[in-house]
Amino acid sequence: MKRTSHFSFFSFQLIRLLVCASLFFNFQFSFFNLAAQTYPQGYFRNPLDGQIGLSATFAEFRANHFHSGLDMRTGGAVGKPVYAAADGYVAKVSISPWGGGKILYIKHPNGYTTVYMHLNGYAGAIGKAVLKEQYARHSYSITKLFAPGDLPVKKGQVVAYSGNTGGSGGPHLHFEIRRGGESDLHTHATTINPLLFGLPYTDNIKPTIRGVRIYPQGGTPFDAPADNIIKVNGPFHLGIYATDAAEGSTAKNGIDRVEVYLDGSLAFMYTTEELPLDSTRIVNALIDFPLYAKTRQAYLLTRALPGAEGPWVPVRMGDGIFRLKPGSTHHIGVKVYDIRDNCTDRTLTVKVESGERRVENGERRVSGETVKYDKPFNYQFSNFNFQLKPFTLYADDRLVITGNGQTVNIKPAINDIPPHLAYTLCIKGSLPGVPSNKTVVVLVTRKAGSVKHSAYTTKHQNGVHSAQVREWGEFTLAADTIAPTVQAVNFSEGKPLKGTTLKIKIGDNLAGVETYNCHLNGSWILAEYDGKTATLAIDTRGKLKSGVNKLRVEVTDGVGNVTDLTWTIQK
Ligand SMILES: [Zn+2]
Repeated sequence: MKRTSHFSFFSFQLIRLLVCASLFFNFQFSFFNLAAQTYPQGYFRNPLDGQIGLSATFAEFRANHFHSGLDMRTGGAVGKPVYAAADGYVAKVSISPWGGGKILYIKHPNGYTTVYMHLNGYAGAIGKAVLKEQYARHSYSITKLFAPGDLPVKKGQVVAYSGNTGGSGGPHLHFEIRRGGESDLHTHATTINPLLFGLPYTDNIKPTIRGVRIYPQGGTPFDAPADNIIKVNGPFHLGIYATDAAEGSTAKNGIDRVEVYLDGSLAFMYTTEELPLDSTRIVNALIDFPLYAKTRQAYLLTRALPGAEGPWVPVRMGDGIFRLKPGSTHHIGVKVYDIRDNCTDRTLTVKVESGERRVENGERRVSGETVKYDKPFNYQFSNFNFQLKPFTLYADDRLVITGNGQTVNIKPAINDIPPHLAYTLCIKGSLPGVPSNKTVVVLVTRKAGSVKHSAYTTKHQNGVHSAQVREWGEFTLAADTIAPTVQAVNFSEGKPLKGTTLKIKIGDNLAGVETYNCHLNGSWILAEYDGKTATLAIDTRGKLKSGVNKLRVEVTDGVGNVTDLTWTIQK
């Protein structure tokens, strides 16, 4: 079935409201069954052989995004056949050293698109079309859209081989089912939990609640002890950290939904069946972001921030903050479900101390520039300026801005969450003896005595260096006058190559590798670039001639420094 994203947004909200109402009136009602009925069942097959085992579930919390699909296990190996999940045609191929690596998009007649990521390679005619495009454009990284008649596929046809390309942390297949998206099948697309389409997946193991935290308003958060009475003395909200395991899956996968009951009545519910890909960054505002950044434990918070809007935002009764009468005792029930409705619960007993402690007003306590989350904010001071668009913050805050010379530090005082939107940061100045075009804006990270610089793409005008940044922190100017490093890994000058693949390690001290080109005996040759190992790999099969071969490798960094090396390889 084909639906517009607007319709689905409203129907989704309606379903959630119905569920909440039904819980209040104690109807027997299953959210999972109701939701599943809205997606075609059995239309898509498992894209891999065997049982589905997951190393990550849909909508798991990550820094700056929700996990947008399923990570399917491939037994720790690459090269497993990947099957078209249903009839359709190859609509797009996209290849990058980063992110999803080698990606395949198949469009199906029912309007959905299936997406396969981190592939090792493409099968048959698809592989040939990809190689042709790479040689035509002299680039490993490509994005290519295909017409419906170009590469039709049948359900169950081998279309690719599983791999570990791009930002993958080990061999697996990342699988998505999407709806919509403009011609690139990405912009304004919605990704849906593939397990709602009736894929065979067994999960008889209950989720684990790993922690519940109390966040007193204006006070210091603390872990809620499992079996003790919890004493509070003012309004608070909760943070819940839970994970799920299943047969053949890893133990710390994400859960499907959370419900919180106050004295038996539903006060909060969270679930995610669909994610609009455009702004999944909002996840940062739903979890305790500073704690996650430190520990990788994602505590889902019950409180609402006004700028965190979207269909995946939790249903709350009120603002998610518990305001209980002094002297009273309450039971707070936390229920956590996985996609197969296995449930784990924990009940907290909360006693509200009489003589309510004065709630510190977080906003009044701190200094800094007042920023309204839904209004623009312009800052100009000596050598710096930046402009925030409305909705860069999720709630009103105070920005603490300090700086001297060419260094500026920007940090929100109340909600330590990365900005939702990028902003333009301008720093005026110059570094002694460094040309303007070799000067970059960098983020400074200090950890255990060491200082790290991460460079942004920087524009220069009249001594002002500007960059689009999407972090808070310390920013300064740095020089990149050093050319990229280029190193032979498995061959040496004048010697024959052992094996068939030439490996070259490339890197850059600051601005990063921008382009790379390899020529064998004067002709451009494909070099596959793996970002995480910073290695180029050249398949030489059928390409080396007998006798002397010349390999030329040219690497340019983000500010135009070039390294150009040539080797002689014997055959
Ligand atoms: Zn994934």
